[in-house]
Amino acid sequence: MRSFFSQVLLSNWFFLVILLTTGALLYYVEGFIAPEFKLLLFILYIIFSMLIAFHTSFKIASSVTQELRSIEKKTMDINAGDFGTLLAASDIQELSDLASSINSMSNRLQMQFTDLNVEKEKFNSLLQNLKEGVFAISLDKKILFQNQSIPKSLIPANSQSRGINDVISNKKLLNFLNEHMDEGIDGKIGIDVSRHYYKVWFYSLKTNNQILMYIGVVSDKTDERETQMLREQFVQSASHELKTPITSIKGYAETLESKLKLEPESVEKKFINAILRNTDRMIRIVEDMLTISKLETQNALFQPEKVNLFELVQNLTFTVDGFIKLKNQTFTAEVPEKIYLSADMVLLEHLLLNLIQNASTYSGENEPIRLVANTNQTHVIIQVIDRGIGISETHVERIFERFYRVDEDRSRKGGGTGLGLSIVKHIAKLHGGWVSVDSTPRQGTTFTVNLPIDRKKPIS
Ligand code: ADP
Repeated sequence: MRSFFSQVLLSNWFFLVILLTTGALLYYVEGFIAPEFKLLLFILYIIFSMLIAFHTSFKIASSVTQELRSIEKKTMDINAGDFGTLLAASDIQELSDLASSINSMSNRLQMQFTDLNVEKEKFNSLLQNLKEGVFAISLDKKILFQNQSIPKSLIPANSQSRGINDVISNKKLLNFLNEHMDEGIDGKIGIDVSRHYYKVWFYSLKTNNQILMYIGVVSDKTDERETQMLREQFVQSASHELKTPITSIKGYAETLESKLKLEPESVEKKFINAILRNTDRMIRIVEDMLTISKLETQNALFQPEKVNLFELVQNLTFTVDGFIKLKNQTFTAEVPEKIYLSADMVLLEHLLLNLIQNASTYSGENEPIRLVANTNQTHVIIQVIDRGIGISETHVERIFERFYRVDEDRSRKGGGTGLGLSIVKHIAKLHGGWVSVDSTPRQGTTFTVNLPIDRKKPIS
């Protein structure tokens, strides 16, 4: 095997030797040739030289071209995913080196390709065998992938490459997907279909902030929901059952109190007062439990309507006045007159009353309590601000939990049930909003409620 350079050099030497030998031969025979044939001999010599030159160049060029062609074909085959047979070794050193590096590249690519295929298969079978349904949608709203756990009632089998508007017949799911894809946002939804309850989570898959595709995960929550409904039903029935005897205990205690005409300082009077206080508390707990249970199962008749916040707060002031005056506190509301929002009036009143009542309970005498409302582009922001005892950082995270009280005694004395903030949180959530708290011990607390502006009923 020689290098290309030495092969060209060798061929040229060979060519030169032939030319020189033939030239010398002609020089020798020239004396024996008749003068009229000398020109012919010279022309023949020129033609002979040209033929030899052409032959030599052709041989060199064709040997290289042939090798290059087979290398080009091999790279095209690799490009098309066909790793086929290896390139044969060439007589030319450089081409032989090139062929062997292409061969090793082809081998390596083939191995990587096989590995990739194995990984792909593993991933595919993992996705296919997941308990949860998984589907992917392209940016032009076509199903890219669906596994076998997707309920047929949501996405029929073999819907790949078809548009979601053609294959998904469930209107709720279709609207949800279209809305979230149009706005490029993630979300989740619960869907009732043929006695099943499914939860669908929807995410956008991004690289460099560009959405590549959308992924959906479907989980069958029928059993879970049934269990939760049974539990809620139990809480509701238990609360109803408890309410009747407690109310009658309260009634009997009140009758006894009025009939016995006891001295204010007597032990009996103290007992009866304790019975009345505790029955009141039990009634409040039972009522709060019922409210939470209804809010959680969304059985509560959530009836949003266009509410003028200013008017709602003004009506509330009369209710608030009673307990505010008891502690010589002041209540001021700073609400712009034209804030309208889409809300359930009764529930929103309940939410604000709970916050104002807490502000009063956990503030000293003569302290001010403020309600301030504002709006931003997307939300109505309502703040209830007090200068009371505040809440330390360790407790702040847990105060929205049911029955969580920072100071049980204080809460009890203030008539608290430990359920008020849990109800507040649920009501805000039911309106599509949230509630947060900012507090400094011994300086005061601010509860902030964010309720979304309903685009159908814009703030005017
Ligand atoms: P409660 O009926 O005990 O007031 P809540 O759920 O309304 O129950 O509140 C939970 C706990 O959060 C209260 O027990 C109290 O410790 C704390 N808390 C609520 N509001 C305030 C406030 N404005 N200032 C200080 N602490 C508060």
